Amino acid sequence: MRGLKGKGVLITGGAGGIGAATAARFLEEGCRVVALDRDQEGLERLRRELPGLSGLICADVSDPDAVAQAFQELDALLSGLDILINNAGISLRHPFLEISPQEWREVMQVNLDGVFFVAQQAARRMLADVSQSADVSQSAGEGGVILQMGSTNGLMGYPYYADYNASKAGVIELTRSMALELAPKVRVNAVCPGFILTPMQEAEYTPEMRSAFESKVPLGRLGRPAEVAALFAFLASDDACFITGQYFVIDGGEIAGGLASQP
Ligand code: NAP
Repeated sequence: MRGLKGKGVLITGGAGGIGAATAARFLEEGCRVVALDRDQEGLERLRRELPGLSGLICADVSDPDAVAQAFQELDALLSGLDILINNAGISLRHPFLEISPQEWREVMQVNLDGVFFVAQQAARRMLADVSQSADVSQSAGEGGVILQMGSTNGLMGYPYYADYNASKAGVIELTRSMALELAPKVRVNAVCPGFILTPMQEAEYTPEMRSAFESKVPLGRLGRPAEVAALFAFLASDDACFITGQYFVIDGGEIAGGLASQP
């Protein structure tokens, strides 16, 4: 991808399936990459797998004070943040009538509050970096790129994920609004994956569960974390310099036909 070499990248949820694959991809592109996650063991595993990382930060994105502290650590690790992959998220599968107030808050606090806290800290730095730069160009994206993790669940109704779906719909609208306010210095887009087979899910799914999910996807298989990472890399690159305020679905065609596509 053009224009990624040497860029400073922060990936939240970087120890998880899609986050770790994205860290690997941006390292391949020659970026300086810091992974943030609340899972300390996962971060240690990532350090062993990707020794080229510029740093690891253990923090909970749902806590605004922890996020502010994490960005101070980030300032010491990366001289300049160019790209944020705002990816950390959780889901709890449960019927709408049984969602407790605590569960509702937990999902919103991580998936929506956390995305907001991290994006705000990142955007402040990206705009400050631009104003301090001697040769400020007005071309879109010169100051930075923020990519947020949505989901096809933020675009369609899915049973048993009402709280998750609402949080991801919020991420998409937050993305569009941020794109308007942060243009032209910072580009902001969302990525909306369908079923992506992470290592954790691969270990959990029975063959029956896996083929049930696969039967809903026109391309006949589940997505791979590296394929989502490739979309992040494209959207962060100079090849996407005229793209902002959009969401991009990566789902093997799952939601292309609505009910008509169901077997
Ligand atoms: P994952 O394997 O569970 O990875 C997510 C990582 O984020 C985990 O390491 C997790 O730590 C961390 N995390 C969770 N809450 C956090 C918090 N409050 N602060 C910091 N880190 C936190 O999940 P994934 O499948 O890669 O998903 C990554 C993102 O993609 C999520 O936003 C998810 O909603 C979205 N997504 C996934 C799919 C899919 O099919 N996999 C589809 C659409 C969208 P813990 O292990 O401690 O929770």
